[in-house]
Amino acid sequence: MTPPLVLSATYSFKNTAEVIHFMEGRSEREEYGRYGNPTVKVLESKIAQLDGAEACAVFSSGMAAITSTIIALTRSGSHVVLFGDCYRRTRQFVTQMLSRFGVSYTLVPPGDLDAVERAIVPETRLVIGEAPTNPYLHVTDLEALAKRCAKKRVHTLIDATFATPINMRPLEFGATLVTHSATKYLAGHNDVLGGSVAGPSGLVSLIRETRDIMGSICDPQAAYLIHRGLKTLALRVAAQNSSALEIARFLEAHPRIEQVWYPGLPSHRDHAVAARLMSGFGGVVTFRVKGDLDSTSQFIDRCQIPKIAPSLGGVESLIEQPALMSYFGLTTADREALGIYDNLVRFAVGIENTQDLVADLIEALR
Ligand SMILES: *Cc1c(COP(=O)(O)O)cnc(C)c1O
Repeated sequence: MTPPLVLSATYSFKNTAEVIHFMEGRSEREEYGRYGNPTVKVLESKIAQLDGAEACAVFSSGMAAITSTIIALTRSGSHVVLFGDCYRRTRQFVTQMLSRFGVSYTLVPPGDLDAVERAIVPETRLVIGEAPTNPYLHVTDLEALAKRCAKKRVHTLIDATFATPINMRPLEFGATLVTHSATKYLAGHNDVLGGSVAGPSGLVSLIRETRDIMGSICDPQAAYLIHRGLKTLALRVAAQNSSALEIARFLEAHPRIEQVWYPGLPSHRDHAVAARLMSGFGGVVTFRVKGDLDSTSQFIDRCQIPKIAPSLGGVESLIEQPALMSYFGLTTADREALGIYDNLVRFAVGIENTQDLVADLIEALR
C-alpha cells in the first residue's frame, strides 16, 4: 500500500557481466542516486497520471524543476517569452541569469495573447505562463495560448502550482509541459520542498538528462512525503476551494475591504475563462484592506488562525503582506509600479473550519 523508502545513494552489481549487460542497455535497474530512485519513480508516475501526461520528472524544489526545464530546452541564441506577472524567481532566472548565457527574452503583459504572438521570433523555444498567477490570480485562456503557440511551433510551459491537477490540467488544453511547486498543494503540509514537470516522454527524457547533470534531483525522503501528501490532495483542494470562495465572498461584502481578487468571483477579470478551464478556483484569496502599510500590518497581526509566512497550499492557513514579504526593500512607488500595493494581503486558505476563519477575519478587521 505504501512505496518503500529506498535511501541507497548507489546500487551494486553482482559482477562485471551485469555491469556490461546494463551499460549495453539490456537491463532496467538502478545505478546511482542522481540518475533515479525507486521511491522517486513512484511519485513521478503518480504525478504524470494526475497531470494526464506521458511522463513526469520530479526535482528538489519548484525552482529546480522550472530552471532545469528551461535550461534543457534552450541554448545560446534561443529566445523565450514570459508573462510579466509570473513567479518572481522564474522572472529573475530568465531576465538576470539566463540572459548571461545568451538566451534572450520578451516580457508580455498578463494574459495578452496578441503580445505573445507578436513576441514570437524564429529563435523562440518556449512560452512560459502561469495560471492562476500570483498574487492577482489571472487565468490566461490556455487553450487559445496553446493554439497560437502550436501554430508557430513553440512549446508552452505552464506553472499550474496554484491550480493543482484537481482544479485544472493544462495539458488537456494543449500546453506542452506543466510544472508544479510540489512544496505547495501537492505535498500540502508545509514540511517538504519539491517540484515536478510533466509532458511528452521525449521532452521529459531531455529534462531528466539535464537534471542528471545539474543534480537538481528530489531526495527520496522528500518524494515519500510528497507521495503521502498526494493521497489527500483531492480532499484538501476541495475543502480549500469551498472555504476560499466563501471567504472571498465575505471579504467582498465587507465595508473595510477595498477590493478582492478571486477567480471564483464574477468581479474577477478572468472569471469567465477560469470558470471554463477550472473545476475549482483554488485556495488563495488576494485583497486590499482600506488602509495604509501600517494599518494593513495591524490587521494581519490581529489574525489568530492564519500564520504570517510565505508559501501556500498547506493545511495551515497562511497570510502575508506582499509589500513586506516578497517586495521588502522597495519604495512604495517602486512597488506600485509592479502592481504591489502597501495595503495588499495574500491569504492562502488552509483546511481549518471556514466559520472560524471568517470569525477571525471579522475580529481582526474590527
Ligand atoms: C512556490 C512557487 C514556485 C517555486 O517553488 P519552490 O518549491 O519554492 O522552489 C514556483 N511557482 C509558483 C507559482 C510558486 O508558488
